[in-house]
Amino acid sequence: MTNIYYKILIILLLAAPLLAQPIKSRQDLRESEKSRFNFEKSAFINAPTPNQRLFDITSYQLDLDLYPDQFLLRGAVTINGKSLTNELDHIEIDFYHVLSVDSILQGRSTLPVNHKNGIIDIILNNVINIDESFSVIIYYHGDPEEGRYQSFGWSDHGSFNTPIIWTLSEPYGSPVWWPCKDDPKDKADSVYINVTVPPDLIVASNGLLSGVSRNREGFTYHWKTHYPISTYLVSLAISNYEQFSDWYSYSSDDSMEVTYFVYPEHLNAAKENLSITVEMLEFYASIFGEYPFIDEKYGMAIFPWSGGMEHQTITSYGYGLIWGNHRYDFINAHELAHQWFGDCITMRHWSHIWLNEGFASYAEALWFEHINGKNAYHNYVNRWDAIPLNPKISFYHRSETGKFRNRSR
Ligand SMILES: [Zn+2]
Repeated sequence: MTNIYYKILIILLLAAPLLAQPIKSRQDLRESEKSRFNFEKSAFINAPTPNQRLFDITSYQLDLDLYPDQFLLRGAVTINGKSLTNELDHIEIDFYHVLSVDSILQGRSTLPVNHKNGIIDIILNNVINIDESFSVIIYYHGDPEEGRYQSFGWSDHGSFNTPIIWTLSEPYGSPVWWPCKDDPKDKADSVYINVTVPPDLIVASNGLLSGVSRNREGFTYHWKTHYPISTYLVSLAISNYEQFSDWYSYSSDDSMEVTYFVYPEHLNAAKENLSITVEMLEFYASIFGEYPFIDEKYGMAIFPWSGGMEHQTITSYGYGLIWGNHRYDFINAHELAHQWFGDCITMRHWSHIWLNEGFASYAEALWFEHINGKNAYHNYVNRWDAIPLNPKISFYHRSETGKFRNRSR
């Protein structure tokens, strides 16, 4: 993640016009930033719980119907897992008390709903032994923006107040809008994301689009990814996007699509801004190894935020960064580098997030060395040295005891 408000320490003068720009959304994004790492602490419990250490997630399927006019999400999430123990008789799934659980199914059996302290405790209808698999479906509904957890937004953009529906779940926000085992080290092998939206909206998400089907409500976009993925990297970005693509040629006869989802009102500016991305991909692949999700895609989707977020295969990129020039290329480079450091290689525990951010920030400097030479690298890094670490800019993480600790960046 890059938060522009941290970066203003470094680029105060350059960023000044951005801060002056009006932000069109239902929320004050600056306020949302302040609160992002100060989630209501009582909402969280240990992650993983002792029970969650007894099973391994294999895949998720998210079937989500979105009604932006009513600020309503109706969801059905299928959770497939495997037992790591004998006689597993219940599973604990993270889901905050923002949305309401309607029912839970295991096969044809309806299971009791027991939703307390941010956990759905699902009593399975049979005991699962080691290496055996299980599958449950959780049905739920509500407004995921309620409670101002800032991981899901019904925002708008443009002169006609077109919806832009977005998610940003890092670090603990996924269970605000979908039930999951929210532990970054238990990656699902596959995630299927089927989202139904009104006809004028386009859904950008992780992996590859396997199809778009028409139905009574509008269109359903079917996305799927078969690379291991942590829950905080699962993303939705939905609007009346204009789409365009570049191609990253990684061998003499193979290439991967690089897809951009941008607001129509800044299409030309976005084409200029993002035109550098394939060159960055080529550079990072040359020094880090091949792009880790080469069989799927790299994408970027504009959202109403003040920075970028490295959602796996689909970075969310702030609309305020689109200026028709290359002023914020460092954010583009940073989020792209996270695909290797953060997404492909992920910390086991949130206290190690500095590794993700450290590598991605170092990668920014490497990019500037690549295009401007060694002095540019040193100048870039030296600016960081001049900034004393501020203990107030910190990251809260859940310790094993459930207590929050304050980590300096
Ligand atoms: Zn970052």
